[in-house]
Amino acid sequence: MIVYKTDAEIARMRESSQITGLILAELGVLIKPGVRTADLDAYAERRSRELGAKPAFKGYRGFPGSLCVSINEEVIHGFPSTRLLREGDLVSLDFGVFYNGYYGDAARTYPVGRVEPEALRLTQTAGESFESGLLHFVEGNHLSDISHAIQAVVEAAGFSVIRSFVGHGIGQELHEDPQLPNFGFPGRGPRIRKGLVLAVEPMIAAGQWEVEILSDGWTAVTKDRSLAAHFEETVALTDRGVEVLTRVGPTAAESARKELPYA
Ligand code: MG
Repeated sequence: MIVYKTDAEIARMRESSQITGLILAELGVLIKPGVRTADLDAYAERRSRELGAKPAFKGYRGFPGSLCVSINEEVIHGFPSTRLLREGDLVSLDFGVFYNGYYGDAARTYPVGRVEPEALRLTQTAGESFESGLLHFVEGNHLSDISHAIQAVVEAAGFSVIRSFVGHGIGQELHEDPQLPNFGFPGRGPRIRKGLVLAVEPMIAAGQWEVEILSDGWTAVTKDRSLAAHFEETVALTDRGVEVLTRVGPTAAESARKELPYA
């Protein structure tokens, strides 16, 4: 059952989402060779508490961290660890908070230092496919119009869409109905209407789309070990049209850069 949100509920989701987006932007500033992924996780948790929020993933179905850190062929759900980021890595951070009764959820892929041009193109394509999906987040459209638009951009770039993980509704629960695949035929599924809030999250691979789960029971990697990228925002349809709730202004990352002592 889809839970459509009132304006008042979306106002509260804007807050949880802005905290999520802000912390993710700050984490982006911290990404560089030599950084321990557990330190990024600790930062995310500390910042959440500072801002009065609860890290959404910590303990979720037993997930050990506050932040998912997925490197190179890892698609999603990588554990923070003593592993150090290395020049040339591609690192995906997936993060969410619970604040004032509502969740926010977002993800970004960041290059670590200088990366292969193909890695940058993959990262860009994930973002562009999201933007293309967003254009279809319109009253009266079908849900799968978003899915189809994402798939079209990814495949036109010569990459593939991960099929076993999907975007989702979000609100008082981290994962709500409906599921939002990043592929499919247009014109299917429920119609989009005001109050729909979704975590739209293309996960894409440079090679084939098949994934496998590592022995930790969580980390999803591409079966062919090709590079993966992930881009996610929490998005709502309001009276004023579509709003990306987790998107923070360009000044957020700027001020983060100034304030962080070890950026
Ligand atoms: Mg999500």
